[in-house]
Amino acid sequence: LGMPDVPIKLADRRKTRQIQVGSVAVGGDAPVSVQSMTTTRTSDIGATLQQIAELTASGCQIVRVACPTQDDADALATIARKSQIPVIADIHFQPKYVFAAIDAGCAAVRVNPGNIKQFDDKVKEIAKAASAAGVPIRIGVNAGSLDRRLMEKYGKATPEALAESALWEASLFEEHDFRDIKISVKHNDPVIMVNAYRLLAQQCDYPLHLGVTEAGPAFQGTIKSAVAFGALLAEGIGDTIRVSLSAPPVEEVKVGIQILESLNLRQRRLEIVSCPSCGRAQVDVYKLADQVSAGLEGMEVPLRVAVMGCVVNGPGEAREADLGVASGNGKGQIFVKGEVIKTVPESMIVETLIDEAMKLAEQMEAA
Ligand code: SF4
Repeated sequence: LGMPDVPIKLADRRKTRQIQVGSVAVGGDAPVSVQSMTTTRTSDIGATLQQIAELTASGCQIVRVACPTQDDADALATIARKSQIPVIADIHFQPKYVFAAIDAGCAAVRVNPGNIKQFDDKVKEIAKAASAAGVPIRIGVNAGSLDRRLMEKYGKATPEALAESALWEASLFEEHDFRDIKISVKHNDPVIMVNAYRLLAQQCDYPLHLGVTEAGPAFQGTIKSAVAFGALLAEGIGDTIRVSLSAPPVEEVKVGIQILESLNLRQRRLEIVSCPSCGRAQVDVYKLADQVSAGLEGMEVPLRVAVMGCVVNGPGEAREADLGVASGNGKGQIFVKGEVIKTVPESMIVETLIDEAMKLAEQMEAA
């Protein structure tokens, strides 16, 4: 009692070298950042900027755009200039787009030097151009596009193959004294992915971009990503995250933020503590929790709101929260900061909770 509420951490962050992706620091002591990728054609500047604006509003901190054609490369300068968050150009195979992205003012480029090694001196030239512009590179190894040599050596995309591939790619830049790098080693299987990142974390100090690739539709992808990121972040591994879902990218950002909040890697915002309901429930808890969540959506202050179905655990949980309701007998006891402030009829519970939440939010913002 009376102690400041310092969030408990699962682990100290692994020490990584810090890189600067535009205005966002990644690695070192920088907070773990959340990123996503646009789904528009990059050459459609209006649609891409619109989606980036939506992503920015949802809390996305870094955005990646694909750059498969010259038209896409031509759009990068306007997108990079008008985006409110750093833009990373995602490039495969064509070195000319890497130079275009650097010239366009992109904050970083994702490219695998192994793909462009066959072009004479291109890796060296990219290292030079990126270094001169202060643009970091993400090396992104994916199970689906693993180097043939490693596929032959390991037979499939094992954790060892993924980690070895990434470190070999990095060495192609290191040969030219370029170390402004972050790395990802993505696989659709969370167990392989977790082990690949663990191996990588043991063998280098580059910041790591976590991702479960092709994680699937929203429900499955959310769980795969949460489990895999949770396992790694709980060990202090991971400097920036991207949840991949077959769903609109704003959903990826919401999931990413929720994962970081759940692990106390970011201050929690609104948190609804609602019971699962059971045979004792004297109110429709699902409906009540949904209505309270909907009514408080977008609230930025760290408020814990308890929605409990009966008086068994209800008053206890509701007291622990900033605000809460314990239902029973067609009524709801409303708690604020541990005290019952009033009892209202069931039909007034949602309205009363929202009113009280707004009052608390105003006090917190004023403080
Ligand atoms: Fe059941 Fe009451 Fe616990 Fe909800 S609070 S799960 S209704 S015992």
